[in-house]
Amino acid sequence: MNVVTSLLTNNACYQAWGKIIVRGLMLHSVGCPQPSAQAFVRSWDNGSVQACVHAFIDGLTGTVYQTLPWDHRGWHAGGAANDTHIGVEMCEPATIRYTSGSSFTVSDYADARACVRRTYEAAVELFAELCRVYGLNPKTAILSHSEGYKRGVATNHGDPEHLWNGLGMGYTMDGFRADVEAAMGGHKADGTGRATVIPILTGTQAADISRLSESEIVERLGRLCQEDARTSGILASVSTAQAILESNYARSILATGGNNLFGMKLTLSGQTWQGDVFTKETIEIYDGKATTVKAEFRKYPCIEDSIADHSRYLSIDRYKGVKGCKDFQTAVSLIKAGGYATDPNYVTKLCAVRDKWRLGDLDEPVSEPETKALPYTVRVTASDLRIRTGPGVNWPWTGRYTGQGIFTITEEIGNWGCLKSGAGWICLDYAETI
Ligand SMILES: [Zn+2]
Repeated sequence: MNVVTSLLTNNACYQAWGKIIVRGLMLHSVGCPQPSAQAFVRSWDNGSVQACVHAFIDGLTGTVYQTLPWDHRGWHAGGAANDTHIGVEMCEPATIRYTSGSSFTVSDYADARACVRRTYEAAVELFAELCRVYGLNPKTAILSHSEGYKRGVATNHGDPEHLWNGLGMGYTMDGFRADVEAAMGGHKADGTGRATVIPILTGTQAADISRLSESEIVERLGRLCQEDARTSGILASVSTAQAILESNYARSILATGGNNLFGMKLTLSGQTWQGDVFTKETIEIYDGKATTVKAEFRKYPCIEDSIADHSRYLSIDRYKGVKGCKDFQTAVSLIKAGGYATDPNYVTKLCAVRDKWRLGDLDEPVSEPETKALPYTVRVTASDLRIRTGPGVNWPWTGRYTGQGIFTITEEIGNWGCLKSGAGWICLDYAETI
């Protein structure tokens, strides 16, 4: 199953931020001759559109375009099902023409049927995956829009059965539910909806975590940056602080629209970008003056990719010393010195974020300087090193000198060592470990 994440972040429903506990899935078809899911993605990504579903299935390819986080409250049923059901629209063939209501004429049956078969098969696969993820029983949790109407949880529409019947496909909702169950292949649904943030099919989406509390967001970002630090050598505290500051807790337009947590521009230090592009207006400070600039940014499939790309970027020569650096202050100063940000208070702001959320805890503890195994031997080159009765200059001098030579130290206190001979203590600053 091919799933493309195309969240409709400008849609009024998306911006209403409702959240549901997923109890069921509702199958729709769009009710107009438009096989392209992208056509809907384009026209629905708009604040004036008062409807939104969780996904569109493309009629030409069967590709699923996910348009809302799965546990977002959709506006697809016009009734109570919005509070419980994920809504998925199948696109319809270009070769039909609606005459009135749900009646239509067909100009090319073969084309129309091929399109409907494609969306049906993709819907079976998608619904099977969603039933697995949310622990739903396909026999009871799946409804069509028209079935929802009969149950009083949706408006009076006939989709998608009207399309299947009009084209003589032989498909029914009972058949669809059976096909979904078969596609789940042995996975037993337990019927409990999961109230958690959706496990996304493609990695963590900033748009999803952006609705959590700040401390939960910090925890999520911190965990992902820790994961990254293991291989990248960029301190988790540094990546997390930058992500929080640059993306305003994953809530910036750049984050929710492009999973870009770090303001990574399209072209950076001569590196070109092969991936998707996100265009946005940004405010930059030049010579102390705020200026609006239109800029192109990198767009990532998920925030894991954003973190990895950021770490790769900090590993180039321009930021020499950042990779492998174990000290937060040093690392962020090098980042600022490398010209990462134009904000003159960048370092101060990052330190404040670190302190507020105790981000230092995310980093591997710096190992203690190794304590020498006792006993060990030292070489004394000075001829007049005094032997004292205890570890320090406050202890009386024994009246003896070590003389030059090799000595064995059996105990160490501070920078003083106890001689094996029992003669007393010497200051190790004048001895060299061998
Ligand atoms: Zn519908």
